Amino acid sequence: MIRIHSLCKSYRSGTEAPAVILQNVEFQVARGEFAAITGPSGSGKTTLLNIIGALDNDYDGSVAINGQDMRSLNDRRLSEFRNQTVGFVFQHSNLLAPLTARENVLLPGYFARKGENEAALNARADQLLERVGLGAKGHHLPSQLSGGERQRVAIARALLCNPPLILCDEPTGNLDSATGTAIIRLFQELQAEANLTLIVVTHDDRVSGAAKRILRLENHRVVEG
Ligand code: ADP
Ligand code: MG
Repeated sequence: MIRIHSLCKSYRSGTEAPAVILQNVEFQVARGEFAAITGPSGSGKTTLLNIIGALDNDYDGSVAINGQDMRSLNDRRLSEFRNQTVGFVFQHSNLLAPLTARENVLLPGYFARKGENEAALNARADQLLERVGLGAKGHHLPSQLSGGERQRVAIARALLCNPPLILCDEPTGNLDSATGTAIIRLFQELQAEANLTLIVVTHDDRVSGAAKRILRLENHRVVEG
């Protein structure tokens, strides 16, 4: 499903020499795999995830998702890809503060282009809130939820449009251990049920333990295991 070839990424700032983050990164992830990306802080994990999710297209090399080279897509196809193919779970859940949990889950629905029926989206939002154990808290604002609950709202939001690919950036990074374990179990269940391809950046040994594969960022490259 994901084919990354000779991926190189540097950040330039002012007159300083560019800082090399990724160098000739190569790997593939098959449909339905659960892969963890690990590596020291600052090694480029978030950078890599943003590139896979087409939030960043300033790189050398190639990234193909479902056989489609990401850089061959025009802006309209790119936003379609981000809306329909990927679900992103950011490190700090990134919920919109003035919206309820349910409204946050429904957000990707407003950008869906397939003329998806509102009633179906509403039903799916409720079903997902139920699924992540927040059926009774859909009307809560993010400020009225715990960190783990906010993270579960973010997961439900990522799943709204049924994307086959889920990208998560340290989803348990700010959670206590029991909440973290519940989130990991939820990922495992979702992945097994829906044959999702799941890529999770993590420092958490329990998350990488649950994953089928571990991709480690080391010296600007990705190594297996
Ligand atoms: P990780 O997620 O593994 O902690 P990041 O991908 O966030 O690492 O960052 C990798 C390196 O790139 C860090 O040294 C970071 O400071 C740098 N970096 C990240 N984003 C930018 C940016 N937009 N401009 C310049 N440097 C950046
Ligand atoms: Mg990061």
